[in-house]
Amino acid sequence: MIELPEAKVLAKQISETIVGKRVKKVTAAKSPHKFAWYYGDPKEYPDLLLGKAIGAAASYGGMVEIPAGDATLLFGDGVNLRYFEAQEKLPDKHQLCIEFEDGSSLVGSVRMYGGLWAFPTGRFDNKYYQLSKEKTPPLSDAFDRAYFDSLFSESTSKLSLKAFLATEQRIPGLGNGVLQDILFNAKMHPKKKVNTLSGKGKEELLGSLKATLTQMVDGGGRDTETDLHGRPGGYKTLLSRNTVNNPCSVCGTIIRKEAYMGGSIYFCPQCQKT
Ligand SMILES: [Zn+2]
Repeated sequence: MIELPEAKVLAKQISETIVGKRVKKVTAAKSPHKFAWYYGDPKEYPDLLLGKAIGAAASYGGMVEIPAGDATLLFGDGVNLRYFEAQEKLPDKHQLCIEFEDGSSLVGSVRMYGGLWAFPTGRFDNKYYQLSKEKTPPLSDAFDRAYFDSLFSESTSKLSLKAFLATEQRIPGLGNGVLQDILFNAKMHPKKKVNTLSGKGKEELLGSLKATLTQMVDGGGRDTETDLHGRPGGYKTLLSRNTVNNPCSVCGTIIRKEAYMGGSIYFCPQCQKT
C-alpha cells in the first residue's frame, strides 16, 4: 500500500522521469477488476488525456496527483505505479496504461483495490481526496505540538493508538504500514489506549512520528513497497512481514504479528508497552 513516504517518492520520481512528455495513447480498464475505481466512464479517458503534456507531480497523504494539461491524473493508495522505457515489455494486466510520444509508458495496476482517476482539473469532489489535500501534512512545520494536541478529543480518548493514528484519515498518508515503526520507535504498543498517554508520551509519539516518516522518505520509501521503477524502497522496515519472527533490533525478543482491526500489527512484546 502506498502511504506518505512512498507517495512522496513516487511524485518526485514522476517529476524527474515523465514531466513534459505528451500522451499518445491511453488504455483504461483493460483488465477487469472489481475494486478498480475510475472517474466516470474510463472509455472517455483518451478524449480527456490525448495530446496533453505531463506536469510536475505532487503527493497528498497516500495519493499521487499528476497534472496533464487541463486534466488531472490521480492515483490512490492501492495502485502500483510503474514507468517503462520504450523498449521494455509492458505487463499483460493493468487498469490504466498511458503511453507517451517517445514510446515510454506509465502503467497503473490495482492489487486489492485502488483508484485510477482522470478528470478535468478541479472537477473531482471525492471526499478522501479533498481531505488529503486540506489536512495539515504530518511533515510540515504546521504539524506541531499544538496541532497534534488538537487531534485529541473526548471522542478519541477510548481509542487505541492504532485506531487514533491510522484511521479516519486523521493524519493523511499515515496508514497501518508506517504505523508499525512509528510505534516501535515510540516504545508504545498498537493497542495502547489514547487516554493512557501523558503529556510527555504525546511529545514522544509526535517526535517518533516525524522522525520515522522522515527516515522513510529519505530512504526512498519502505522496503515492503516498490518505487516507480519496480525497485523496493531503501528504508529497512523494523516491523513488517519482512521482520516478523526475527529478533527485535533493540532487545532481541522475537517480533510478533497479530490480527487487529482489519489488518496485521507487528510489535516487540518487550519494548512496546500498552
Ligand atoms: Zn524489543
